[in-house]
Amino acid sequence: MGWLLSAVFQDANNQFYVVAYGVVRVETNDACKWFLTNLQADIGDETNHAWNFISDQQKGAWEYLSKFEPETWVKVYFSHGPKVDNLTNMCEVFNAKIVNYRCKPILTMCEEIRCYLVRRMVNHKRVLENHPGKLAPVQQKRMEKLVTLSTKWTAEWVGDNERKRFEVSRKGSKVDVNLIKYTCSCNRWQLTGMPCTHALAAIMKRRDRAEDYVHPWLCMESIKKTYSHCIKLVPSAEFWPQTNYSQLEPPSSRDLLAGQKFTTDRNILLSH
Ligand SMILES: [Zn+2]
Repeated sequence: MGWLLSAVFQDANNQFYVVAYGVVRVETNDACKWFLTNLQADIGDETNHAWNFISDQQKGAWEYLSKFEPETWVKVYFSHGPKVDNLTNMCEVFNAKIVNYRCKPILTMCEEIRCYLVRRMVNHKRVLENHPGKLAPVQQKRMEKLVTLSTKWTAEWVGDNERKRFEVSRKGSKVDVNLIKYTCSCNRWQLTGMPCTHALAAIMKRRDRAEDYVHPWLCMESIKKTYSHCIKLVPSAEFWPQTNYSQLEPPSSRDLLAGQKFTTDRNILLSH
């Protein structure tokens, strides 16, 4: 027994990307703090990089959430920074993929997870390196669907000099699209980075290329940056350097039940 903690990002193709994982004996505030402190040291401070964190703590109910600022859990107040509206719990997807490794002894488990992640990253790189479009494949399909839906809306130029402001309407609904600022008054474009159906109606009216209005984080350019890193090799034990430290012993019976000693686990955190 023990707790596998993981930090999982989402790539531009809406696939999970594991940045770090670590094992702790029990799930305590101190253990989580240790993991997050190491994570922060690795990926940089969230205030500089504007990281957004989603925890999968399953407290669920409104009573629990209402203790926090609405910007952290109510969509209408969300920041326009992350450009993500995918509700898939990436940590759960990762957990499901490694279910066969999690019952193994700690070092074997960690090594098998590492090998799985290497295979996964190599596979993504192979599949995506020859993708011809500007957008990541998932985003390309998503945009094609939105373009089809956008034909139900009517875009009217409002007369600005740049010809990039439109009133877009359908039946009784009207929204304000600004193709200079990449905004729509429905807020979806700002939240997701993908032009909404209203914006696409205006873009089609101008006969512009829709992909030119998509945020770079949804494009192949971001995929290439994400997969430009690779996980370092770990030689087998006979090639490990000799040190003056005491030999690694099997965990005590209590540790066998509870996982592994904390100090040993510290080495498991991976850098990206
Ligand atoms: Zn809109």
